[in-house]
Amino acid sequence: MEFRNLKAQYHHLKAQIDSSIEEVIEESAFISGKAVHDLEQQLADYVGVRHCITCGNGTDALSLVLRAWGIGPGDAVFVPDFTFFASAETPRDRGATPIFVDVLDGTFNMDPASLERCIQAVTSEGKLIPRAIISVDLFGAPADYACIEPIARKYGLKILEDGAQGFGGMQNGQKCCSFGDAATTSFFPAKPLGCYGDGGAIFTDDSQLAALVRSLAVHGKGTDKYDNVRIGVNSRLDTLQAAILKAKLDAFIRFELDAVNQAAAYYTLRLGGIVETPVIPEVMLSSWAQYTIRLADEEERNRVMNALHAQGIPTMIYYRTCMSQQHAFEDVAEAQPIICECARALSQRVLSLPISPYITTEEMDSVIAAICRELGR
Ligand SMILES: *Cc1c(COP(=O)(O)O)cnc(C)c1O
Repeated sequence: MEFRNLKAQYHHLKAQIDSSIEEVIEESAFISGKAVHDLEQQLADYVGVRHCITCGNGTDALSLVLRAWGIGPGDAVFVPDFTFFASAETPRDRGATPIFVDVLDGTFNMDPASLERCIQAVTSEGKLIPRAIISVDLFGAPADYACIEPIARKYGLKILEDGAQGFGGMQNGQKCCSFGDAATTSFFPAKPLGCYGDGGAIFTDDSQLAALVRSLAVHGKGTDKYDNVRIGVNSRLDTLQAAILKAKLDAFIRFELDAVNQAAAYYTLRLGGIVETPVIPEVMLSSWAQYTIRLADEEERNRVMNALHAQGIPTMIYYRTCMSQQHAFEDVAEAQPIICECARALSQRVLSLPISPYITTEEMDSVIAAICRELGR
């Protein structure tokens, strides 16, 4: 069994993907070809924002926005303690101090009450200037923007939505990658919308920000890339990846998002009452980057994980180490106003199960049976 069945997806979409790749090679405009421009337009339309700028990967996407906002030393950026490293790495790389915010047990996303507590603590300490919130749409479901946006307004902070895992998710009918002042996503192969290598994108309604990010992503270009008006980076999505993504976006919209939601619903129906299943509030839709269960404690989690592995069922632990526990952040430990108890407990209890739009009922049945057998339920 595959953890995320990319081979089944390729076999299903082979005709479209192969012809898209061939077309690009025939054209031989490998950088900034037509497919890149078309894809940006399609992504912006799908998400419901004015501008989409593709780039090299999801980490660069975060960095480019932080760079455009001029975030740096002396600034505090609020990040969930339970996330992939890049969410906190990127503000630190700009010289800012990430402040780790606790998450909610059921949704795994930023706890708005903890966010406000952290902002107040940093403000009253007076050493750092609160600048931005990087809200993460963990495992495919949006962070609670209905609560986070008013907090950002109240304290004058920008929101950068890290939608690397959230593409396709929704809150109250609004799509992930359209919240906050800017949003980013990743096209890493295993993400909800993945390419065949690295890729990423930035989304915003802010035309000035979009123009600045476009410049920063191509060596600080002015009128063209040989007219350089600022220091930038080289971070582009290549035309082959854009062509692959165009074929995959079509499938994502037509049936994959529904299929993965049906798979998740089946797991939840069968595993409910046996383990703690993911909580998706009624106003939200997840794109199921991961299907993550919670076990009683670390011992039980490891027991279930080993039992699954013994039967050839792959699982992953997202995430075993909280941001505040990473060695790389030892130097910002003193700046942390709280210990994120919920995030720490989750890191010991979570287990992500195989899921994709292409997982079969038989495969899910074998995962469910193995869990039930191990737990004697
Ligand atoms: C994958 C991921 C990223 C980084 O994306 P890359 O394309 O791998 O650079 C950032 N944030 C989160 C939450 C992610 O899951």
